Formats: sequence, structure tokens, C-alpha cells
Amino acid sequence: MQDQFFKEALTHKVFEYITKATDELGLDSYVIGGFVRDFILKRGNAKDIDVVTIGSGIELAQKVASLLPNKPKVQVFKTYGTAMLRFNDIEVEFVGARKESYTENSRNPEVSVGTLQDDQDRRDFTINALALSLNAKSFGKLLDPFDGIGDLDRKTIRTPLNPDITYSDDPLRMMRAIRFATQLNFTIEKTSLDAIKSNVERIKIITKERIVDEINKIMASPKPSIGFLLLEKTGLLNKILPELIALKGVEEVEGQTHKDNFYHTLEVVDNISENTNDVWLRWAALLHDIGKAPTKKFDKRNGWTFHSHEFIGSKMVYKLFKRLKMPLNNKMKFVQKMVLLSSRPIVLASEVTDSAVRRLIFDAGDDIDSLMILCEADITTKNPKKFRRYHKNFEIVRLKIKEVEERDRVRNFQPPITGEEIMKTFNLKPCREIGQIKEAIKEAILEGEIPNEYEASYNFMIKKAKEIGLVAQTEF
Ligand code: ATP
Repeated sequence: MQDQFFKEALTHKVFEYITKATDELGLDSYVIGGFVRDFILKRGNAKDIDVVTIGSGIELAQKVASLLPNKPKVQVFKTYGTAMLRFNDIEVEFVGARKESYTENSRNPEVSVGTLQDDQDRRDFTINALALSLNAKSFGKLLDPFDGIGDLDRKTIRTPLNPDITYSDDPLRMMRAIRFATQLNFTIEKTSLDAIKSNVERIKIITKERIVDEINKIMASPKPSIGFLLLEKTGLLNKILPELIALKGVEEVEGQTHKDNFYHTLEVVDNISENTNDVWLRWAALLHDIGKAPTKKFDKRNGWTFHSHEFIGSKMVYKLFKRLKMPLNNKMKFVQKMVLLSSRPIVLASEVTDSAVRRLIFDAGDDIDSLMILCEADITTKNPKKFRRYHKNFEIVRLKIKEVEERDRVRNFQPPITGEEIMKTFNLKPCREIGQIKEAIKEAILEGEIPNEYEASYNFMIKKAKEIGLVAQTEF
């Protein structure tokens, strides 16, 4: 490729200053890695730039900052020998070229000063080792010792050096390989894939947080199944999310089979990814059937059943998040809720009653739309007639939800009568009867016996109270 082509990668104003600083300090500097890769792939405007210099990255960063008009603050990370600054919309990280050597139990290598070639050798993939010169005399010259350009063309993930050593040295690279293959829709070269398979055990030295970061990037890709299939094929999934592996396979008893819930799950994740970018909703799709493995049963009358798999599944979500050191916050609760409710709209699709819709809205609250997106993604039947029928039924459910919502306002339902009012009306101290009456009012509203209004609820309360022998002290 032409130098002119690459000069176009370097039109951001910040490069002028890096070049000036580099030449004034008498160094050699290069922009390297993801920035160059993404420019060639036309992946949109970069937000960060990695600069490697043959010398001190910190010194170069400070020189660049002193030349920049906004004199940005330089953040120095002494232990890593790196420095970072921000200029307009872009973050630039500076590092001195280095050579790495690894030990058995850590992915953090011993580091020593190196040449550009040493620095390119330590990169994870050939497509991430591309460098462009930033010196004035060779501005935009490409340095591509491993034919990374060819690999971009062939859509291939390949390591610059022996893949067995590359993955064993830093096993996070196995996750990164699969993540890049998913994000870019690339193929991992066979020897590389084999090396991942034989280094699977090494994943244990990687922190859960880093593994989850990569899974989230796979999850946020256009077609996450690419990554999960690779994780499964290499054996990594069994180490990270064994709950999904437990869904694999089709059993047959007395001629009756059930679907393979692993491949079904991946289809659901791909389906949902066409309709939402919310990674937590995508997580819900990934986990919506995990309760099916521990609840699977065969009996002569009903065939294969997975009773309460939604409930068991939602309990498993907590354990899984905890094990992977994922935050146990509202996002986790949202995933649990989606898993718990994941079969509800499907049941509705065969018979849509007002009270069932009202209950669904009550239980799902503001997450009703997410739940509908999940349930539509769950339709993976290959029978076109059924496919159309289920979707049509969901359209009816959606319409009905809208209709019931407008009329009954049960989303984020607050009972029209509070416990305090019940206590005041019947001159009660806190007791069991208050809860009973409140629950009865809620049930009557959800069942459609009374409208979701104050007066009707008040009258209902009086009637209900009479039944349990209470008399109002004040009348409405
Ligand atoms: P993205 O921003 O999409 O994650 P990126 O390639 O910029 O892509 P970074 O994690 O920012 O990813 O890493 C920047 C560069 O550092 C990479 O392009 C690669 O050259 C190198 N790199 C990052 N992590 C590793 C690693 N574990 N082993 C070897 N080289 C790595």
C-alpha cells in the first residue's frame, strides 16, 4: 500500500505535534496497533492512539504536551513506563519500545528496553502489530513485518510468533483472539486455534474481570454466536460458563427428543442482537434457558419437561455473576427478572386474556418492552407457518399490552389504598389483616374485578374488611 494512503490515517492535528516532538528529541516514533488496523478496516473514528517510541514514552508525552496549544496534563504510569494525554476528542498513550519475557504464573512479563521489532514481536496478532512512522522524514511509512495487511485482507487472526508460546505467555490473548474474530467476523488460523485448545487450562491465571470484559465485547458484537461457538469449540466455554455447556445435546427416550438448548440459546442471542444493543438484555438471552439443564425430566405422560426452569435459572444467574465477579447490582437483578419472566408472554400468545396481560405488566413493570423483545427473539422454530403464527400472536399481545396499559395503568402499580389508610379506617395497629386487605385489593384490580381507582378500591376494602369482621371507623 502507498505511503499516501497511510498519511490519510494521520490527519488528526495531534500527529503534527507528535512528529515535531519526536524530531526535536531525536527519537523514532510510530503509531501502532488498533488505530492502524481500524483505519484500514474503515471502522470509524478512533478514540485512542497508541504511540511507541524508541526511547522514553514518558519524555515524549511531556514534550508533546508542552507543544500542544491546550497544554494538557500528562498522566504518568511509572510502573508501566507509559504516559497518557488527551487532546480534543482523542486519548494518546505513549510507551517506549520494549522486549518482554514471561514467567509461568503471571501474564505480566519482565520488561526491558527494545527495538521496534521487539515491540512488534510482543504484540498479540499480526493485524495488531502494524506500525506507521511518525518521523517527518518517513511520515506515514508502514512497518508490517508479519504481513498483517495480508491477514486483514484474508480476514485472518494469526499471532506474529509461535502461537503456542504467545497464548501460554498471556492466556488473555485466547479471549482476545476470539473477541476480534467475533467483532471483525474473521477466522482464527488453524495453528492458532489448535494452540488455544491446548492452552485452555492456562485461562486460570487470568482475572475474572478481564475475562468478563472480553465476553462483554463478544456480547456487544453484531453476531455474538461467532464468539460463543469458538469458546465452545476451543474448550474455553466449559471453563468460563459451564452452565451453557450443560445445555448441549439432544436426548431421546422412547422416540421423544427435545431441542438442543445450547444452539437454541445462541440463536436467541443473535436474534436479540438485531433488535437491541443493551448488553444486559443480551446476557438475559444468553442465560434465559440455563435452568433447563438441572430441571430436565422425562415422564411417560408429558415427555420432556423443564418445570420451574425459569425460577431455577434466575437463581443460577446470581451464582454465575458472583463467580465471574460481575457486579451484583440492578443489572444483575434485571437479568434475573428477564430469566424469571421469560416464558410468560409465550404462554399468553396462545390465549390472551385481559387479566393475564395485566399481571404480566404488573410483574414486568418498566421492563415489559425488554421482555417482549426477549420473547420474540426466543422464537427459533424452523417451521415457517409456526414462525409466522407465533410472531402474529406476539403482535396481538403487544397490542393488548398497549390497550390494557392505557386503560388500567398497572405498570409500576401503586395500590390506590395504602396500609396507613387501612389502619386509620379500621383503627388498627400494624397486623396481618392489613396485608390481607391490601393483597385482596391488588388481586381484584389485576383480575379486573374493580378498576384501578381510589373509590372502587375503597368500597372493595370496606366489603373485604366486613368479611373478616372489621368495621370502618370513618366512612368515605
Ligand atoms: P480495542 O480498542 O478494540 O480493544 P485495540 O487493538 O486497540 O482494540 P487495546 O487493548 O487497546 O486493543 O490494545 C492496543 C494494542 O496493544 C493492540 O492493538 C495490541 O497491539 C497490543 N495488545 C493489547 N493487549 C495485548 C496482549 N494481551 N498481548 C499482546 N499485545 C497486546
